[in-house]
Amino acid sequence: MQSFEVTYYDGKSSNARQITLEVRDNVVLLKELGIGYNFDMLGVGVKLKGTPQTIDFGDGSYCVLKTDDHFSLPNAGFSRFVLWLESKMRYALLSLFILAGVAVFILTYGGEMLADLLADKIPQSVIERVSKEALRSLDEEYFRESNLTKEQQEHIASSFGKLFAQEEQNYKIHFRESSWFGANAFALPSGDIVLLDALVKMDEDEKYRGIMAVLAHEKGHVEYRHGVKMVIKSSVTSALLGYLVGDFSGLMTSVGAFIMEAQYSQEFEKEADAYAIAVMDGNNISTKYIADIFEKLNSDAADNVSKMFSSHPAMGERIKNFREDRE
Ligand SMILES: [Zn+2]
Repeated sequence: MQSFEVTYYDGKSSNARQITLEVRDNVVLLKELGIGYNFDMLGVGVKLKGTPQTIDFGDGSYCVLKTDDHFSLPNAGFSRFVLWLESKMRYALLSLFILAGVAVFILTYGGEMLADLLADKIPQSVIERVSKEALRSLDEEYFRESNLTKEQQEHIASSFGKLFAQEEQNYKIHFRESSWFGANAFALPSGDIVLLDALVKMDEDEKYRGIMAVLAHEKGHVEYRHGVKMVIKSSVTSALLGYLVGDFSGLMTSVGAFIMEAQYSQEFEKEADAYAIAVMDGNNISTKYIADIFEKLNSDAADNVSKMFSSHPAMGERIKNFREDRE
């Protein structure tokens, strides 16, 4: 026979009484009061760790057990389940927090760390194949042949080549026209740099020195493997999001889509700008020319001339850098 020392309240007054509750067959007896209740009259409170259990007798009276005591009806499996769940819950919550922490880490720093780590490990052949494929699909969808004369194209390509006389050439300039992208230039991870007519037309300098700086900036993205890093980072992110939400369609990110939508981080833009400035300085060319072009791109932003350059939040600051470097 089980018995409990309980605190009894009659439900009419706030007086508490210490009494003994005895459990027999299918009734509980409140010995001191000479009352018995059938099990099926009882409302047995759920037993939670650290809190005393309450038994409601159905007539307004009730009792409170000692904190460590646990009363359960013969088939009170459910309350045992809640007790078990409560003790497991803290582990469940803990794992949830850890998982969330890992996810946040990967989405913020982790992806970048992984990208830095892997960027140099991805074989050049893979980078080239993916880039060629991206250029091919961009050619199909958004680009047309350039309207620049052969002479203009050769002038630009050879002028740019001269800036890197001592270096082996790890880039190739592709001249294109695109109403979609307007005045723009971008580099594929392979070193294929696409230069669009509208941007060339913006450079009023007869030596295309603004274009030289833009191309140097794009080459900077290639040198620092920014494109590769971006693709790795966005793949890691979409893989993780795919895992968390159970949808892996995000994994199908193509490099083409990346080129069109992604913006390099400010850090990458700064690195590429610094590279361009170094190249210009090394060749005694003023960075005034790139500042001029950027300024035009900025003021033409309302006409949606350039999606890529104009949407850059730190554009004013970058122009200032180029201007200051001139002095
Ligand atoms: Zn850039």
